[in-house]
Amino acid sequence: MNNNKEKKVTEAILDRLSAERRPPPSVYVILLVAYLITNVIVSLASRSTAQIPFFGGTIPFSSFAGVFSAISEICVIFMTFYFGKMGYVTAMTLLIIQFPSVLAVTFTQHNRTSLPGVFVNLVSVIAVSIIYVNNKRMEEYQKTLRYRAVTDMLTGLPNRFACSELLKALVKKGDKFAAVSIDINSFKGINDTMGFETGNAVLCEIASRWKTIADTGLSGTLDFITRVSGDEFLLVIRNYTSDEDIQRTIRQYESVLHNRLTIDNCDLYITASFGYAEFPADAATRDSVISYADTAMHEVKRTNSSNHIVRFTPDMLKTQRTIEIEGKIREALEKETVFFNLQPQFNMDHKLRGFEALARMKDADGESISPGEFIPIAEKVGLVDKVDGMVFRKAAMFFGKLLRDTGADILLSVNVSVRHLLKNDFLDEIQSVLQISGVPAERLEVEITESIMIDSVDKALQCIDELRKIGVKIAIDDFGTGYSSLSYLNKFPANLLKIDKSFIDKMNEDESSKQYVSAIISIGHIMNFDVISEGVEETAQVETLREIGCDYIQGFIWGRPLPQEEAEKLVWESVRK
Ligand code: C2E
Ligand code: MG
Ligand code: MG
Repeated sequence: MNNNKEKKVTEAILDRLSAERRPPPSVYVILLVAYLITNVIVSLASRSTAQIPFFGGTIPFSSFAGVFSAISEICVIFMTFYFGKMGYVTAMTLLIIQFPSVLAVTFTQHNRTSLPGVFVNLVSVIAVSIIYVNNKRMEEYQKTLRYRAVTDMLTGLPNRFACSELLKALVKKGDKFAAVSIDINSFKGINDTMGFETGNAVLCEIASRWKTIADTGLSGTLDFITRVSGDEFLLVIRNYTSDEDIQRTIRQYESVLHNRLTIDNCDLYITASFGYAEFPADAATRDSVISYADTAMHEVKRTNSSNHIVRFTPDMLKTQRTIEIEGKIREALEKETVFFNLQPQFNMDHKLRGFEALARMKDADGESISPGEFIPIAEKVGLVDKVDGMVFRKAAMFFGKLLRDTGADILLSVNVSVRHLLKNDFLDEIQSVLQISGVPAERLEVEITESIMIDSVDKALQCIDELRKIGVKIAIDDFGTGYSSLSYLNKFPANLLKIDKSFIDKMNEDESSKQYVSAIISIGHIMNFDVISEGVEETAQVETLREIGCDYIQGFIWGRPLPQEEAEKLVWESVRK
């Protein structure tokens, strides 16, 4: 399709945003025909002497002339009201051509009964003129409102709303397009150092250069440039055949930034970041295509590379999410809002053994973020020791008081990351928390994942030995998922082996899986460890675990991770039993 034709489609889409709606042309024809018919009837009725039956009596047909005359006036009024200039011209023509014929009848046939019709005509001419003038003013007002609704007042470019409506229409039609999110680099610096007015002048100059490209079709593609907010613009590219076409067009927009830009006698050097995504190749909805283009643009900023034009790829979402979560972890640590839930552990007779403290974090809008997501990110960005530390401190304070209040004989398990364990002051930290919280060392269990056995074994072992010396218990978490070898296990001074949920899930599916879990339990017992099964959800699993000699159970079947008050309730119940 050629660009001019497409451009008209774009304009039509924006036009449709106007509040004004005209009825279809058929209504115009109906009004015109109704007007003509009613006038014929008026003229026949006014000359007729016929009587027509009416509710048992008769009335003269001529008395209906007034009714039909009123209907014909209503037709011209509607025409003017709904069909603007065309309606007004038609109405005036119809009304004015009546004057000579009415006056001719009055004066040539000396028939004065037509004279009131002349006055009615006159009144109608005045009425439709008033309606027309009024309508015209309303239309002008609507036009201004519409212009404001779809235009960015600073630069004169279409605004975010106009762009959003255009994309909505394109997505509905299924037309392919590329959305390019553009951000002016270091624009804040211009505002801060040279003032808002200069900043605004820069935006206007950039907008005008880009508008020239879009309006003249210089790029060879069909472009629609909008200012979204501040220094952010969105370019919609259509009528391209390949990714190279898109990139060529974007480069054209980038290149005009390099032309000298002088404002207030200062030469400014402007660059921008361009990220783009294509509909439907990269994203299936209007919102996702915009958000993916934004993601790509932020990727340009983040990597700070010399290439300022980047296409969206799905793995960018991961990096974006990582950055987002990292920010949330930092904020939660700063505001001390990392908190914990306590998941109960039981022996096979359903007697409470203790609780595992599990880290929890919430968004600013109260949405929970799973530790499965934020712990690996905290590990990656080096914050996990701080998260562990906060959970440990808070859980220990709560647990210490709980022990004093209830006198219960239970344990607190905390997860400790390898990174945390290997810190030089780890032992001091544990001892100081134990002291402040009043939790006896032998009531604390530290869960360490199996991966410790391959990374930095010696230092870890030394640390674990010291923990053992002060009486703290050690659990090997997620057992079976790593690469533990029996020789390591033999050296490992643990008390408890935690069989990972993945084995428990499969255990009742076939005999060999059950034998596997049974073998882990036996090995654990040979090494003098107690064994606990994680993620137990079904009664059948409990029965099998009893049968093969498991010592403890942690799973949704007997207890989900609980908030403090509910955990406290559970402890009170267990001591009263
Ligand atoms: P984990 O230490 O193996 O903890 C057990 C996980 O299994 C918990 O998930 C728990 O809610 C879940 N779970 C327990 N029983 C069931 C069950 O019957 N069904 C199912 N579907 N799930 C069950 P959560 O709380 O999401 O924690 C995930 C992992 O995050 C933990 O696995 C642990 O590796 C890590 N984590 C949690 N809190 C901390 C922490 O404070 N520090 C560190 N370093 N890691 C933590
Ligand atoms: Mg654990
Ligand atoms: Mg586990």
